[in-house]
Amino acid sequence: MDANDAFQIHLQKLPPQDEKTFETIYTLGNGHFGIRASNPLQGNSSHFNGQPGMFVNGFYDLTELSYGENYSGYAQNSQTICQLPDPRFIIFEVDGIRSDETPYDVKLVDKNLDMRTGVLMEIFDVKSPTNKQFRLTLQSFASHADKHLFVIKYSVSALNFTGALTVIKQHPYIDQQIKFHTDDMRASQPETMLDRTFIRSKLPIMLISTRKSQLALIIAQQALNDNPMQVNIIDDLPSFSKTFDLTQGMSQSFSFVYAISFPHPLLKTTLTQSSFAAASEKRLADKSFKQLLDESAAKIDQFWENSDVELSGDATLAKGIRFNLFHLYQAAGSDGLTSIPAKGLTGPGYEGHYFWDAEMFMLPYFIYTEPAIARQLLLYRYHTLPQAQHRAREMAVDNGVMFPWRTINGEEASSYYPAGTAQVHINADIAYAVDTYVRVTGDDDFLTDYGYEIIVKTARFWLAYGHWATDDAHQGKFVIDDVTGPDEYTAMVSNNYFTNRMAQNNLSIAVKYSNQLKHSHPEKLVTLNVTDKEIDQFNRAADGMYLPYDHELKIKKQDDLSTSKPVWPIKETPRDQFPLLLHYHPMTIYHYQVNKQADTVMTDFLFPKDQDAAQLKRDFDYYETITVHDSSLSRAIFGILAHRLHHADDAYHYFMQTVMMDLTNSQGNTGDGIHAANMGSTWLSLIYGFAGLGLEKESFNLSPELPEAWDSLRFRIWFHGRQIEITITQSAVTVKLLSGEPLQFYLKHKTFQLTKGRLVNQFLK
Ligand code: BGC
Repeated sequence: MDANDAFQIHLQKLPPQDEKTFETIYTLGNGHFGIRASNPLQGNSSHFNGQPGMFVNGFYDLTELSYGENYSGYAQNSQTICQLPDPRFIIFEVDGIRSDETPYDVKLVDKNLDMRTGVLMEIFDVKSPTNKQFRLTLQSFASHADKHLFVIKYSVSALNFTGALTVIKQHPYIDQQIKFHTDDMRASQPETMLDRTFIRSKLPIMLISTRKSQLALIIAQQALNDNPMQVNIIDDLPSFSKTFDLTQGMSQSFSFVYAISFPHPLLKTTLTQSSFAAASEKRLADKSFKQLLDESAAKIDQFWENSDVELSGDATLAKGIRFNLFHLYQAAGSDGLTSIPAKGLTGPGYEGHYFWDAEMFMLPYFIYTEPAIARQLLLYRYHTLPQAQHRAREMAVDNGVMFPWRTINGEEASSYYPAGTAQVHINADIAYAVDTYVRVTGDDDFLTDYGYEIIVKTARFWLAYGHWATDDAHQGKFVIDDVTGPDEYTAMVSNNYFTNRMAQNNLSIAVKYSNQLKHSHPEKLVTLNVTDKEIDQFNRAADGMYLPYDHELKIKKQDDLSTSKPVWPIKETPRDQFPLLLHYHPMTIYHYQVNKQADTVMTDFLFPKDQDAAQLKRDFDYYETITVHDSSLSRAIFGILAHRLHHADDAYHYFMQTVMMDLTNSQGNTGDGIHAANMGSTWLSLIYGFAGLGLEKESFNLSPELPEAWDSLRFRIWFHGRQIEITITQSAVTVKLLSGEPLQFYLKHKTFQLTKGRLVNQFLK
């Protein structure tokens, strides 16, 4: 296969899908913004079926939540990521007819995303109402070198005429939301209210602000020097325009760059406005498309150097893997003030909210391959500690913090608390991620300055929310009542196994790091008011944590009552009744044993040393039969466990479904945005699963075993400032130190020494 083809996502090679799905698949982004790859003539017209728009990470408006009975502590507002004007939008005028006034006929001919350079190439055939046909070619990219920039080049060539074609580049509207009918609450469309003003400058610069959240964003636009255009006022709007004399067969090209500021409080706008305008004029002056592209592509090269996973033996899968890794890279906020929405920056689904998805499913990939991004993602949580503390008090929890289940600005945004706020496990998930980051990177400064505070304050929550049981059933253990675990088809239970085990871990690491920092940074404990008494309380609660177990079935019990409920008749339920959440009242579902997603088995995955193979097998077999995978966060976890159990076929099958989820739209809702957690799970399946990477003592262990269909797997990780390359074949594993000091690591739990220039090469069979 042509090596370059391995990085191309070519439309002709994808299964047919509707417009919205392709818009998502081909979205371009850089963690700051994402732009759906829509028909560039659509704008906000409902004449076409697309859902164009730009999403800026952290730019949201508040939308009021209304309840029949509005109880104390209910979230009052949702936060909805704004669907901003599509910078790809362009207007053509032929024979006096403007394409935004009378729709032109637009046919998509081809699309290709080059994941090496980040360039999206698209071809459309366009026909005016007067039957003048021309081919429109687009080349665009979101810059990874300067995160503010989106660059787009248009080429037009007449297909059946010679004559004038006028191009108008303006944005006549701000609100890009196009109403479409849906009963799917995951794709809900609350309205955001935007205002816009134009700033006086040499360039068209618009200031977009939100009504309720009072945020502002500045977008500057410039025509690049390959075919300069003047700014004119057309219909009261600053616009670029030019009339081309087209000759059949000859093409004309022109390009634009958009500079998109970070969101900032509306009140601070005047200052930001003038400095951003000046900076944009400067940074956009005299740049060419090629120059900007070269700078961005160099960054993407570095990303692949760190993050590529080379799979040989299955070209489709190999490409699918890269597609998922590339999308994760495109979605990750890196300013310490934003994270990764469940749908990345590719669509309006889940209103652009951040969930546990980021910490538990995506972060491991960044921790091992792009630790600087991982640090920023964790800093986002650190910066929202004040909101999490406020929330805990609002919920009458007198100590510690309560991170929100879903949010953008750090405040709780879930209106349905049984599957929202009650998922308090998010506290322990964030603490788990901090611990993993610190253990993998050795970033002690992060631990001291930020991570420790997150761990202590989340641990305090468990002491305050849980209690020591006095009843016989719980044998004087530490219990946690009234929570919801990851499985959203079971809610408000006592002692959810996952929650209790994660809380136990949260408490244990609070003890571990308190004891560590007591010596190295005693002042930190003083500042946070951590006393020996409190450390002892953490320790006792961790030791005494109640973990429900069904002694008859010999399985970990999902919660106190789970195994006594009837099992949902999954096989008898017609296929079109899934996902169950769209067809049954939550209480109907809660009445049964049926899991939306991996729950108790998540702990088997995260704490492999907790159980032997026989226990794992019993847990796996039991929970697999009652899990319907209505959440995209499920299959990969089952796949990794199937691999650990040596169920090779099952592991491979689950993995295939994970990798190809968005490229094949297998969940049926890729049109609302990618499934970012599932994309992170692709990496988890490969590296934690098939390569068997895990932390061991002060280092890492590998226990590799490849599916029979593959020839080899090669990837790189960063560990304590060293870059390491690992190549696994059917018969051997090779580990190479690319940079940094020698270190000791484990291969199938046996010790090896890794030094520069000397490979560790071991036969596997
Ligand atoms: C899942 C949650 C997940 C959310 C966002 C829901 O369907 O049940 O676990 O966090 O989607 O991806």
